[in-house]
Amino acid sequence: MTESSTAAASTDVDIVIVGAGFAGMYQLVRARRAGMSAVVLEAADDVGGTWYWNRYPGARCDILSVDYSYSWDPELQQEWQWSERYAAQPEILRYAQFVADKHDLRRDMRFNTRVESAAWDDTTHRWTVHTDNGDDVSAQHYVMATGCLSMPKVPDIEGTDQFTGDVYFTSTWPHDGVDFTAKRVAVIGTGSSAVQSIPLIAAEAEQLTVFQRTPNFSIPARNGPISDERMADFRADRAAYREEARHSAAGVPRETPMEGALMVSDDERRARYEAMWEAGELLGVTGTFNDTLANADSNDTLRQFIHDKIRSTVDDPDVAELLCPTNHYVGTKRACLDTNYYETYNLPHVRLVDIRSNPITTITETGIDTADESFEFDAIVFATGFDAMTGAIVGVDITGRDGMTLKQKWADGPVTYLGLMTSGFPNLYMITGPGSPSVLSNMMVSIEQHVDWIADTAEHLRANHLNTIEPTRLAETRWVQHSNEFADLTLMPTANSWYMGVNVPGKPQVFLPYPGGVGRYRATCDEVVERGYLGFALEGPAGRTVNDGIIRELKPDVQVMLETMAEMELPPLETMGVEGARAFMEAAGAGMPPGPEVGEIVDSTLPGADGSTLEYRLYRPATDGPHPITVYFHGGGWVLGSATSDDALCRYLCVNSNSVVVSVDYRHAPEARFPAAADDGLAAATWVADHATELGGTAGPLAIAGWSAGANVAAVTAQQAKIAGGPTISGQVLLCPVTDGTTDRPSHTENADGYGLTMAVMNWFWDHYCDPETRSDPKASPLLAADLSGLPPALVVTCQFDPLRDEGDAYADALAAAGVPVQHLQCEGQTHTAIPAVDAMVTSEYARQAMADALGSFLGASVSA
Ligand code: FAD
Ligand code: NAP
Repeated sequence: MTESSTAAASTDVDIVIVGAGFAGMYQLVRARRAGMSAVVLEAADDVGGTWYWNRYPGARCDILSVDYSYSWDPELQQEWQWSERYAAQPEILRYAQFVADKHDLRRDMRFNTRVESAAWDDTTHRWTVHTDNGDDVSAQHYVMATGCLSMPKVPDIEGTDQFTGDVYFTSTWPHDGVDFTAKRVAVIGTGSSAVQSIPLIAAEAEQLTVFQRTPNFSIPARNGPISDERMADFRADRAAYREEARHSAAGVPRETPMEGALMVSDDERRARYEAMWEAGELLGVTGTFNDTLANADSNDTLRQFIHDKIRSTVDDPDVAELLCPTNHYVGTKRACLDTNYYETYNLPHVRLVDIRSNPITTITETGIDTADESFEFDAIVFATGFDAMTGAIVGVDITGRDGMTLKQKWADGPVTYLGLMTSGFPNLYMITGPGSPSVLSNMMVSIEQHVDWIADTAEHLRANHLNTIEPTRLAETRWVQHSNEFADLTLMPTANSWYMGVNVPGKPQVFLPYPGGVGRYRATCDEVVERGYLGFALEGPAGRTVNDGIIRELKPDVQVMLETMAEMELPPLETMGVEGARAFMEAAGAGMPPGPEVGEIVDSTLPGADGSTLEYRLYRPATDGPHPITVYFHGGGWVLGSATSDDALCRYLCVNSNSVVVSVDYRHAPEARFPAAADDGLAAATWVADHATELGGTAGPLAIAGWSAGANVAAVTAQQAKIAGGPTISGQVLLCPVTDGTTDRPSHTENADGYGLTMAVMNWFWDHYCDPETRSDPKASPLLAADLSGLPPALVVTCQFDPLRDEGDAYADALAAAGVPVQHLQCEGQTHTAIPAVDAMVTSEYARQAMADALGSFLGASVSA
């Protein structure tokens, strides 16, 4: 369909859109709906983008067509019926053309028009976009709908120009097809394009030789008619189905698995993998268990499963081994869906050449030379991929404010806010740009969300008489940081993938898409708008307003934990009653990772301050003793918890500080109110010091440590020991300590709710523990002690999103002011409950390590022992 390449009349429009793929087409629709003038500039001679260019045999989508289709036109969903689960390229292109016809889109599109450069004019507040046919377009808003996988990778194999036979690229396949009959054909590459095309090329060619550098994971697509069940799901309530997709992890409604791969029996795991193999859906590959992309051992179970499938399909065991990917985890490169891919290697005229062990040295006039062999071919197919995500954007010479080019700005990797915009380039938008979920999702859902956000923003500017919008440096820097921190929680950055830019020589290696998921990302974009375009500067005739800020400050694992807790809609702890809250905390603790193995655990008792019996748990390192001793006080607001409730953290501190840790179950409120816990702290420390040798530890100074109310007990114990003249305490580690009963610092308000520990429950704890009039006693509020000098050295750890942050900070400052050697670790993006969560919260590992190191240094313990 190339008939209507009519140039739009105007060269002066509200919005210029580059690219007439699914993104550019919908952006034009939204511009028209808003009554804005728009023009689309497209290098090809028709709409379709990816599906216009990639016409190689076997090209089809790898997300079910019912999902990989527009949702913005409800009628279209009735009018268009997909013929297969995974429609082939011609059908998807027809779909794009059908939409263009139906909405008369081509009238505002200029085809055969490549955008070469674009420049921002700070005086007129407009972009001038320059094209290869000399036409300039001036626009207020400039949208790069240029695609993530639209810039073919430049061949990087020596001699490519010398070959005199036929050369094809899967990414720019001839429109009238290719006949490989009686041809000797080479395919270079084994990514998705190769995996789809190889079986069909093999079906025609006389000989097919596949040059493989890295094998990929592939599962059978099981293409065919769409199942009645799936269609019923979809048809039952299309709007609800689409809405679920928008808030899902990857843009397709799917149940989130509750278990990790290692949490089920071998038989159960195998059964689930078999079901995934039979289902033939890409998102099922890494979606069978919840930790496939995060836990190497879990991923290995899937890797082995797929290896076994390859071995049982491919006849020649040596070929099968070559096809088994071993240098990356499943899902860290995009997995493939295939039809008879592995079976193709059983055909006598198909050969696999491993170019890792036998590298290509050059392409010659007649074929390909490898280190070991010379091959003759009639045709070479390059299925070598794309300069993904950034290639098409920096392919245009874009100059922003002050003459800065985008290429210069992104020299070390792309910097964007939300993958949508970048500072220094006002009113320049990217659709599915780097820093957005894009290629990790069903792109159709991500495209629609970006187009809507951009259109809404353009409308917002118009409605508020504003000329420009531009992210701030802080907002984009912190978004990149947040996205990288998310990626670092996964195995994704470990692979040499195009997600990391590794496939293009010289490209900066950074993880390009945002791995936090489609639904979470959408919520973030919405929140940015709700908070008055947080992280953006908006400018109009009335001046410039900078709403600087950081949209996601919580560390990603902490954010996910809080979201999970919020979804559980648990009643507030303080409404459960004391016994209910205790039972709840015990059950919650039981579900957490157990922490490392220690050498020995001893459960016993010691006498409390009033002669009562206190339980303790002793953790001994596996190394040769005797070891110095740390006395540890658990968290729980003086009301909850036990000698074993901080088990994982105690194990961690024992192993990593190489000290014996004695965790003491001091008396709890409301049964034993203030000062019972404080007095028991001193009594326990004294008893442990007196019995150090019997406990298998070294006699001499102790260290003390605690978390939350336990850190309050520890701090008070250090003060009481000073007053009492013993026991000798060499150092104190205070994690998120309660230090002051006057709860009127900013963090008590700012972090009062939403971050795990709430002020409501903190006040409940205080009420149980201590009357308001006695809270100023230093045994309850150690910060209020008259003299803090002479106390043991301290490590005070506080968390940004903890109501207790400021009182902890104040205690660290007060100790330092009194001359006490203090290390003060202020943990950005962390909450009150994150740091004790050993092995569950990865981003706080450094804080746990700092605690263990501090104990080791206080105690003089040989940590390397
Ligand atoms: P594109 O479709 O890439 O369109 C961009 C357009 O911009 C192109 O037409 C290009 O010619 C034009 N352009 C670029 N630069 C310029 C310039 N300087 N001047 C003028 N025009 C320019 N995603 C999925 O979610 N599911 C799938 O199953 C799936 N299968 C895929 C299969 C293949 C073979 C490939 C390559 C990608 C696949 N993708 C898939 C990703 C796919 O790219 C997106 O789903 C989607 O089609 C992208 O649409 P787009 O409009 O953003 O970009
Ligand atoms: P790709 O995944 O990047 O694969 C390129 C292949 O070429 C890889 O095997 C790569 O090996 C190899 N290669 C690149 N340069 C080479 C060189 N100099 N020498 C030897 N081998 C070289 O590209 P793609 O297959 O076109 O797919 C790109 C993406 O497009 C996919 O991941 C997917 O998102 C999308 N896509 C989807 C479908 C679908 O099923 N719907 C189909 C096609 C594409 P290395 O791995 O060693 O670099």
